Amino acid sequence: MASADLRRLWKLHQIDVAIQGIRNRATHLDVGKKTAAEIESLTNQLATNPYKLFHAEQLDLELQQSSLDDKVRKFESELYSGKIVNPREVDGYQKELAILKKQKGDIDEKLLEIWEQMPPLKELADKLDATLAAKKKELVETQRKAQQVKAELEADFKKRSAERPILAKEQNPGLLAKYEAIRKTHDGIGMAEVVKKRQCGACGTLLPERTLQGCLDDRTMTCETCHRILYYTEGVV
Ligand SMILES: [Zn+2]
Repeated sequence: MASADLRRLWKLHQIDVAIQGIRNRATHLDVGKKTAAEIESLTNQLATNPYKLFHAEQLDLELQQSSLDDKVRKFESELYSGKIVNPREVDGYQKELAILKKQKGDIDEKLLEIWEQMPPLKELADKLDATLAAKKKELVETQRKAQQVKAELEADFKKRSAERPILAKEQNPGLLAKYEAIRKTHDGIGMAEVVKKRQCGACGTLLPERTLQGCLDDRTMTCETCHRILYYTEGVV
């Protein structure tokens, strides 16, 4: 069994590992950045999709078409009402009607072109709309979850941070100083457990016999590769 000093230090180390874990989780917490970027891209795609422009033009042309239809009907009913008998007047009406019908023909042609292009554009716009709506929903859910996890992490961090100084006071000062120095240069992790097959639990190095013997002799040993203080439990060494 490891010395009492090492066992106490191991408890402190476990708190440090937990704090480090909380920091890592907070750093990598999914707050929906990727989804927000996807939403921006979809919004841009929708803005530049010609469906809306074509649709506006279609409505405009349909309105013109209907107004021309009314005019043609009006001219025709007047022309054939029997009230217009003067040949010059009849000629004038017929010329006007021809102009109106030509205009209507042009609009009909344009509308046909638009109607042909509309279905695939509408299908794409609808698809983008649906994806955008789903992504917006996803973002709300991700942000809600992130808030929840953040609150949990903060509470855990507070608890561990309060426990740490109490445990630090109980440590052998020399050993604690060594541990803190290692932590500074080793991503906050200053200890490693000797795991089965006689490996350093942090870096996986196979520990030499003299290191293992040192552990058994209750001396403070470090891993030759990652330099962390080694902790061991009975039966492993
Ligand atoms: Zn190691």
